[in-house]
Amino acid sequence: MPERVDEVVVGGGVAGLVLARRLAMAGRRVVLLEASDRLGGQVRRVRVAGIDVDGGAESFATRGGVVAQLATEIGLGGEIVAPVASPAWLYRADGTAQALPATSLLGIPGVPLAADVIAAVGTRAAMRAQLDVVMPATVGADATTLGELVRRRMGDAVLEELVDPIVRGVHSTRADDLPLDRANPGLRAALLREGSLAHAVLSLRESATAGSQVGGIRGGMARLVDEVTADLELFGVDVRRGAAIDLGAVTPERAGGVEGRVTLATAAPTGDDRLVSVVVLAVDDPALDDAPRGTGLLVAAEAPGVRARALTHLTAKWEWMREQAAGVHLLRLSYDRHDLTDPAETARADASALLGIDLPSPLDVAVVPWRRAVARTHAVDGMHRIGEAESGTGLAAVIGAAEREAGRLLGALSGGTDSATD
Ligand SMILES: Cc1cc2nc3c(=O)[nH]c(=O)nc-3n(C[C@H](O)[C@H](O)[C@H](O)COP(=O)(O)OP(=O)(O)OC[C@H]3O[C@@H](n4cnc5c(N)ncnc54)[C@H](O)[C@@H]3O)c2cc1C
Repeated sequence: MPERVDEVVVGGGVAGLVLARRLAMAGRRVVLLEASDRLGGQVRRVRVAGIDVDGGAESFATRGGVVAQLATEIGLGGEIVAPVASPAWLYRADGTAQALPATSLLGIPGVPLAADVIAAVGTRAAMRAQLDVVMPATVGADATTLGELVRRRMGDAVLEELVDPIVRGVHSTRADDLPLDRANPGLRAALLREGSLAHAVLSLRESATAGSQVGGIRGGMARLVDEVTADLELFGVDVRRGAAIDLGAVTPERAGGVEGRVTLATAAPTGDDRLVSVVVLAVDDPALDDAPRGTGLLVAAEAPGVRARALTHLTAKWEWMREQAAGVHLLRLSYDRHDLTDPAETARADASALLGIDLPSPLDVAVVPWRRAVARTHAVDGMHRIGEAESGTGLAAVIGAAEREAGRLLGALSGGTDSATD
């Protein structure tokens, strides 16, 4: 006799954990199947120079408030912190570093003729971007990608020099490959409502939670996984680690030999998976005390001699980390590859170039390889799916989608629709 439960959740990343928690809280018997021996997926902690650091996601978008709401429910509301306010920097293709425009969203300037925009892209390109304000709102409103929208409204220079480096840093892809509604679900509507892209940016920034557009958790995002996992135990979820499910054999009613309503919270690997490495360095150099590039830099694709795609000066970004590190600096570099030879030295050299300081050998280093699925691969009618490949990158997106799916699944039990496509 096959084993039977109410709900089977495949994948114990944040999406699967949040869904399993919500279903179990409503009294459903839930089995969670996770391939690895660790829950959390792309949220995990690593230890560097005795300090716990996030090796995957290290912050969340505050938009919509879904992450803060979950954090509050699980007792971490008082632990939510904002990063130190400081503009991000860009390391440009000509090897110079430049602070990014302060009033921008995804690199799109809210005030195209502001001095910091002109400094970043030049007067000509800033004037081209300003044309956005006099164009009809409908121009670009049908764009499929963020790149298409920005190019049509503000021109190539803003796209290539401001938006692309940010998209590359945040989403590991190019703006031309990033669906507009994934980049920011409200941007298209804001364009039509406000009449121009610049005004859409200003309006979205205004409506974001007062203060920072991103938040973190004191002690690291991995605490979110700890607390949700503790709730799973509390609510009786049967968590099975080391359960690598053959996704090709999963049906809407059965996964890994367990019968029940199945939700996939993972995507099968494909040849298109993105390889990413995070390298965290602990460095003892007082020249870093002044945070020479604020909280960090994004790197233009053609930047000479630098292989990293982004650098975050963690101890400049997070007050709590600076306190814990007691004078040591933590630098986190991201790479779009796994094959780094001598990652500590590569990252030291890159960080030196990016920060404009000849850094000493690191005291400690952690290297975390990631494989990121880019698309859903298991299109079976009636299958419920959540997770990054469905809802887009980022904790706000996956948590919001998992909560909504939980509502739908529970609603279906009380007579609503159970359609996986609605
Ligand atoms: C380096 C890095 C930095 C990031 N930074 C940020 C950030 O600062 N802010 C932010 O909001 N987001 C960030 N993200 C993105 C964010 O972490 C992800 O979007 C989110 O965690 C995805 O959650 P998920 O549950 O959809 O997927 P995952 O976390 O990928 O979880 C999927 C789970 O399914 C399991 N699994 C896979 N195959 C199977 C199988 N066959 N059977 C059973 N289980 C399986 C996996 O082991 C994994 O645990 C970052 C990601 C990375 C890698």
